[in-house]
Amino acid sequence: MSLIVKKFGGSSVADAERVFRVASIITEEYKKGNDVIVVVSAQGDTTDDLLEKAYEINPDGGSKREIDMLLTAGEQISIALLAMAIEKLGYPVISLLGWQAGFQTDANYGIARIRDINAERMRAELAKRNIIIVAGFQGINKYDDLTTLGRGGSDTSAVAIAAAMKADRCQIYTDVDGVYSADPRKVTGAKKMDEITYDEMLELASLGAQVLNNRSVEMAKKYNVELEVLSSIEPKPGTIVKENVKMEKTLIRGVAKDCNVARISIIGLNDTPGVAFKLFNQLAQAKINVDIILQSVGRDGTKDITFTTPLTQSKDAMAALERIKDTLQFKEIISDNDCAKVSIVGAGMESHPGVAAKMFEAIYDAGINIQMISTSEIKISVLIDAKYADKAVQAVHDKLIG
Ligand code: ADP
Ligand code: ASP
Ligand code: MG
Repeated sequence: MSLIVKKFGGSSVADAERVFRVASIITEEYKKGNDVIVVVSAQGDTTDDLLEKAYEINPDGGSKREIDMLLTAGEQISIALLAMAIEKLGYPVISLLGWQAGFQTDANYGIARIRDINAERMRAELAKRNIIIVAGFQGINKYDDLTTLGRGGSDTSAVAIAAAMKADRCQIYTDVDGVYSADPRKVTGAKKMDEITYDEMLELASLGAQVLNNRSVEMAKKYNVELEVLSSIEPKPGTIVKENVKMEKTLIRGVAKDCNVARISIIGLNDTPGVAFKLFNQLAQAKINVDIILQSVGRDGTKDITFTTPLTQSKDAMAALERIKDTLQFKEIISDNDCAKVSIVGAGMESHPGVAAKMFEAIYDAGINIQMISTSEIKISVLIDAKYADKAVQAVHDKLIG
């Protein structure tokens, strides 16, 4: 007997028909004699719809605690409906909210980290031969308040359970049949991969390929949980995510885009030691994530610093910078919220010169201007105008993957 963890995303349980399709995938596994723990997300666009409701009440967004209280409701609905469908099929089942399944998190509302999973309840339910349906994306903090794990966080819930329960398999079911070299819904010619390493998947996920949440991949790597990404609609093998893959290192594994990016420039800073420290220290204290950084060469005693941050943090970043305007004595701050980051990922590129030039050529041929560039051993990212993001991804994919 094996223990199988299966996660179904929002689109896989969007309506009653899909809920029953998922229910039958689960009961087929159970019928083989296996223990099954299922993690499920909120149905369809429920999470977005709930956020919309919050903004109707308060356009500035409510407190983070109350937003989490609201959002956890989405998953509460889907676990109950899925459990009812499994009951209807005649199998023993129990739905559990995050806290009932033992998910303890820190108090960072909206993007909480899992501290521990107290698996006692899940073990007891498995001992009763119950199928367990767990609400993804949520937990409880030390104040007994509900928290959420960040958008797409149900993937992380599933990997966390697989790690805590030492599951034999962790399957992430979604609305595409695996991980592709680019978003298969947007890019023609995107190629499905049989396998991908944790490191490459982590880069792709962090750079915007939403098929897996980046924290889930980080956790899968840490606890060595092999993942399979597969379709909840078509029964066929998906993509395996693991430490080492059989294939030789391909040059470019994939192309991703991230539109949750803002660019902020601080113009006319003093060209003296300590300026970058003071500026980024201020941002760090305000818990702003900074990604690409560019500093101009000093001229006439002044310089400019430009950086990118998630669009969702751009307002907070601007406010934090305004607070040190007198100390830093810069001229002005300019922000651009219509940016996109387009990236290529591939473990093979570190030993192949010329990849960056090819990427830039593809973007040039598409008539798109590059605003910023950043590179690491296994990725190259460029910042461009958001309205050209899809065009750039297609052009880069055509040139480098074909
Ligand atoms: P779920 O609701 O199942 O969590 P998501 O919408 O979060 O599903 O993720 C699946 C989607 O990710 C797909 O529908 C696809 O459009 C998108 N996607 C983006 N990049 C990729 C990629 N490289 N491979 C596969 N899917 C991708
Ligand atoms: N329902 C949550 C979201 O939309 C969590 C998830 O889908 O994984 O982000
Ligand atoms: Mg998802």
